[in-house]
Amino acid sequence: MSRLPVMIAGAGPSGSTLALHLATHGIPVVLLEKHPSLPVDLRASTFHPISLDLIAELDEWVIGRMLKKGLRVDCYQYRDRRTGETATFDMSLISGETGHPFRLQLEQYELTRLNCERLRKFNHADLRFSHEVTGYEEMAGGVAVTVRTGGGEIRLKGAFVVSAEGAHSRLRKQSGIGYLGFTYEEKFLVVSTPFPFEDVFEDFSYVNYVADPEEWCVVLRTDKVWRVLFPTTPETAHDEALLLSDAFIQARLHRLHDKDGDYIIRHRSLYPVNQRVAEVYYKGRMALVGDACHINNPLGGMGMNGGIHDAFCLGGKFDRILNHGDDCTEAFAHYDRQRKDVAVRFVQAHTIRNKQLMESRDPHIQRKRQRMLMDTAADPEAAREFILDRAMINCYRDSVATA
Ligand SMILES: Cc1cc2nc3c(=O)[nH]c(=O)nc-3n(C[C@H](O)[C@H](O)[C@H](O)COP(=O)(O)OP(=O)(O)OC[C@H]3O[C@@H](n4cnc5c(N)ncnc54)[C@H](O)[C@@H]3O)c2cc1C
Repeated sequence: MSRLPVMIAGAGPSGSTLALHLATHGIPVVLLEKHPSLPVDLRASTFHPISLDLIAELDEWVIGRMLKKGLRVDCYQYRDRRTGETATFDMSLISGETGHPFRLQLEQYELTRLNCERLRKFNHADLRFSHEVTGYEEMAGGVAVTVRTGGGEIRLKGAFVVSAEGAHSRLRKQSGIGYLGFTYEEKFLVVSTPFPFEDVFEDFSYVNYVADPEEWCVVLRTDKVWRVLFPTTPETAHDEALLLSDAFIQARLHRLHDKDGDYIIRHRSLYPVNQRVAEVYYKGRMALVGDACHINNPLGGMGMNGGIHDAFCLGGKFDRILNHGDDCTEAFAHYDRQRKDVAVRFVQAHTIRNKQLMESRDPHIQRKRQRMLMDTAADPEAAREFILDRAMINCYRDSVATA
């Protein structure tokens, strides 16, 4: 059994979860993060039930803190802004299928903080900040990773290297692995406000998909604030000054609810939106997880959750390779089949479709969609199936069952 560590580039949700998985299974691990501390960016805020189940199996302390800090969402809604019609999905319908029949609204940086805090209890886990991986090469029985540090460039030896670097993965590019798909022409605008939307909309759930032929939006509550995601147009995509201006943001929010005076804005960001999957999830002794191998639009909250599922799958393969002597090429090929198929067939397909339906400007399509959602929500068996799909339980099970 090799005692060289697994080197992981990137301490985001995928990398830090994989590191904790490896450490828990007695595998030496070095987690390298390029920033001097964990990034606090407002991106993913929804944890699906299956992700919570997996985290709970791995570490009781982490899940305990997450459940305490996060906001439990028992129902989510699809609204038609013009008619006020609402389809409400009650997640207790899947209580026989998961230990966590709810969505947990919690910032993704809370997970990375907890994972990294937990890693410190393992002597065989080494977390290093201000360590930016710049490349790697294979050597006999392992890899040599080049790392830029405040004190200059160093080389570290490992048994394997994992890129959890996010969408711009340098190791993926160095390995010549294509990132197939497309980038939408428009950007998404995300703003957060402490304004209590629950007081002005009747029966307002903490997760709302609001359809409107003129401007759809997603309204989510996190543990601290309400967050609203708006589309923008391809014509304005390069005009960041306009899209991030007070006037533009206040107008969007006032369309959602026309209150007196300005909204307090706590945070504003513009994000490019992509649909891409890596051609292959490994090469030799290098493997990819999370955004390094798949990105999608955030409608449905599947990016980070998919990355967490990758981390558990890949962690299981490392356990087989390093603790039980399985062949690494076969194990990685299995990981690739299990996780790439889900990314293409399920996550990409669902998120692309979600966006098409939300943005349709045809009132007939909008009405049909709202009717379909309301009919589904009203039928407990159909609603249960709908939720199992959207909660990523079906696709996770498919991936586990893939030979
Ligand atoms: C507006 C928005 C909302 C979203 N909402 C959701 C949601 O509700 N649910 C959901 O599931 N997903 C959501 N997502 C997607 C989610 O944010 C990403 O899928 C997730 O962050 C991916 O995690 P990751 O660990 O793979 O990569 P990242 O979060 O990008 O982390 C990469 C880490 O690697 C570090 N790094 C990069 N390069 C190097 C290097 N060379 N060496 C060392 N360190 C390096 C970075 O500093 C960073 O810490 C959303 C995304 C956006 C933009």
